[in-house]
Amino acid sequence: ILKVEHLQKSYGNHQVLRDISFDINKGEIMTIIGPSGGGKSTMLRCINLLEDPTEGKILFYGDNILAPKYDLNHYRSKVGMVFQQFNLFNNKNVLQNCMIGQESVLGRSKTEAEKIARENLQKVGMEAYAEAKPAQLSGGQQQRVAIARAISMNPEVLLFDEPTSALDPEMVGEVLKTMSNLAKTGLTMVIVTHEMGFARDISNHVVFMSDGVITEQGTPDQIFNHPQEEKTQKFLRNFR
Ligand code: ATP
Ligand code: MG
Repeated sequence: ILKVEHLQKSYGNHQVLRDISFDINKGEIMTIIGPSGGGKSTMLRCINLLEDPTEGKILFYGDNILAPKYDLNHYRSKVGMVFQQFNLFNNKNVLQNCMIGQESVLGRSKTEAEKIARENLQKVGMEAYAEAKPAQLSGGQQQRVAIARAISMNPEVLLFDEPTSALDPEMVGEVLKTMSNLAKTGLTMVIVTHEMGFARDISNHVVFMSDGVITEQGTPDQIFNHPQEEKTQKFLRNFR
C-alpha cells in the first residue's frame, strides 16, 4: 500500500534522512524505534507531506505521490496522523472535533458526520464525553478523542508520532489499548514509539532508525530477540 524508496531529507546542509526505504502492506502494523534525533518524526512528516522530501519516492498503491501530476488531495485524505500533542480544537467540543474534518474535507453531511463520530467515540470509549471540551479531559482521554477524530476520516494508513509520550504514566495504558484494538480492525498503522513492549506485541514489522538511516528492520522477533547490529543492541539494552 505504501512504499518508500531512497527517501532523503535535508535542512540546509544538515542531512536528516539519508537513504530510507521500506514497504508497508495493507493491514500491517509497522513500528519505528530508535534514539532521539534519529529522524523518526521527520520520516513520518515526509510520508504525511508535512515536509517535502529532498530526494526519493513515496509510492501509494504504486503511484509516486511526489510526481507533479499526482492528486495530493486524494493522498492526504487517505493518510491520517495522530500527534504527540493531541492538537484538538480547544474551543470545540469532542463531537465537533470529530466532525469538522469529515464535513470540510470529505463533504459529509452533519447528520452523517455525527453518526460516524459517535461510532468512533464509542470505539475509543469516549462516547460519554461527546459534549465535553478538550480542557475538561485528561491527556489520555484527549488522545483517545484524537484517535477517534483520525479514524472518522476513514484513512487507509494512520501514522502515530509518539502518541503516548506526552501522557502521565497512568494514562499510557488506555491509549495503547485503544491502538491495539484499532490494529485488530485491519487498519494499516505506522507508529513511532518508545514503548518497546507495545512495539513487540503489536507490530508485524519493526524499523530501527538512527542517524537518518534504517540500521535494521525485520519482525519483532528479529529486532527484539536477535538484533544483528551493534547500534540496535545498544539501544535495546537501555530498555531492559
Ligand atoms: P525524537 O525521538 O527526539 O522525537 P526523532 O527521531 O523524531 O527524535 P527528528 O525530530 O526527526 O528526530 O529530528 C532529526 C534531526 O532533524 C534532528 O537533528 C533535528 O534537529 C533535525 N530537524 C528536525 N526538524 C528540523 C527543522 N524543521 N529544521 C532543521 N532541523 C530539523
Ligand atoms: Mg520525534
